[in-house]
Amino acid sequence: MSIPTELLHHIDGKDVPSVGGETFGVGDPVFGEEYARCAAGQAADIDLAVAAARRAFTDGPWPGLPARERAATLVRIAEAIEARADVLARLESFDTGLPITQAKSQAHRAAENFRYFADVIVAQHEDAFLAGTRQVNYAIRQPAGVAGLITPWNTPFMLETWKLAPSLAAGCAVVLKPAEWSPLSASLLPSIMAEAGVPDGVFNLVHGIGEEAGAALVAHPDVPRLSFTGESATGQIIMRAAAEHLKEVSMELGGKSPCVVFADADLDRALDAAVFGVFSLNGERCTASSRVLVQREVYEEFVAALAARASAVRVGPPSDPATEVGALIHPEHHARVMEYVEIGKREARLVAGGGRPDGLPTGTYLAPTVFADVPPDARIFQEEIFGPVVCVTPFDTEEEAVALANATRYGLAGYVWTGDLARGHRVARAVQAGMVWVNSHNVRDLRTPFGGIKASGVGREGGAHSIDFYSDLRVVHVAV
Ligand code: NAD
Repeated sequence: MSIPTELLHHIDGKDVPSVGGETFGVGDPVFGEEYARCAAGQAADIDLAVAAARRAFTDGPWPGLPARERAATLVRIAEAIEARADVLARLESFDTGLPITQAKSQAHRAAENFRYFADVIVAQHEDAFLAGTRQVNYAIRQPAGVAGLITPWNTPFMLETWKLAPSLAAGCAVVLKPAEWSPLSASLLPSIMAEAGVPDGVFNLVHGIGEEAGAALVAHPDVPRLSFTGESATGQIIMRAAAEHLKEVSMELGGKSPCVVFADADLDRALDAAVFGVFSLNGERCTASSRVLVQREVYEEFVAALAARASAVRVGPPSDPATEVGALIHPEHHARVMEYVEIGKREARLVAGGGRPDGLPTGTYLAPTVFADVPPDARIFQEEIFGPVVCVTPFDTEEEAVALANATRYGLAGYVWTGDLARGHRVARAVQAGMVWVNSHNVRDLRTPFGGIKASGVGREGGAHSIDFYSDLRVVHVAV
């Protein structure tokens, strides 16, 4: 497979460089060696992309298409993605360091996003209210205009489609700004959109650095909706800037999600879930179960089993089908995660990993790492590490488990393992999180609202929530 060495913007149906010719270097995750020059969008490029989107929205057919026709285009997008499944997996694995076997599921998930929102808009109904015999009032959704979509580097293509599918389904025109560490897979989108028959200008792609291209998109007055996924600190910067134009924002931010294991749980299944929750996708997963809280009666047994499982995880080159944990996204991120590992060694008891895996003396690799006896005020308990590193902490009572689960600034996801279903429901309500899984793995149902509370986000994506976000709601009152 040949890897492109030049990545361009896509504006108004054409692949174009930056107006001023600016570029940045994109490195491979393992060694950071530059493999491509990518157009570095500036305010002038964002202006062109937003103007193209605005024209497509005001003068073009897209926002006014009957739902069935727009849905048919979304289904063609899904088919075009699936037709590229192999190349997508290879590009994604090459660019992000994800194990190739895990990158392979991304095309299916991305395609499903489009199929699902195609179904939503066809089945969608509006509300009508009859006020006695005097008036009928009905609410309608109208596409909001140009949506700015800003996405992170973990599972980049899937998360891009997670925003593209509902915004296009709602009838918006879009400008997508992918993460600068992983721009490669987005380069498939222009041909996918063209093949599916999306009119020029409806989908625009501007690459670039967050503080340049991203900030210009956030500041643009003609972009009334901003959907952002990334770090909580970046979300704060974006919300401040968006306030200038009173834009509506959707924020999917960081997490430090607890996995609470009670002594009466099916411990084998809980262990499987804990291993999957923090070591799949290299631990670079917003909903990672990075804090495992275990009831004291089974604590030592669970810690020993988790350490053994972590030590058995196969770390290796992303392209090797035997690899279970690949390379971290970037040497800078690797250095940051390693710093946390060193901090953890001072704060807690290291029971697995803690350094480079055997046989991999160079590259952005880290052996799956488990810290036990982690106190709740430890930095590794409080801060998002975003790598294959897990903290384990004991608790005695249900109240203590809930207090520990809620003892961080984050509130994205939670996982509860118990043989007592009533307790499962109770703890699911008490844990401060947008999403809680009881006795189950993190599997996403696209119809449910996805998002977090506290520092983990503002708003929800998924189902009707997404369509509402990309729409203006209007009520019409008619005398009868
Ligand atoms: P990041 O915040 O560094 O970057 C995300 C995007 O924002 C990138 O495209 C970046 O270029 C852009 N950006 C950066 N500064 C900007 C600015 N000033 N203005 C506008 N745009 C700007 O995040 P990341 O490191 O790419 O991703 C990892 C983070 O994303 C983690 O915290 C993770 O938990 C979070 N995440 C959350 C979810 C969720 O659904 N809640 C999903 C995936 C990832």
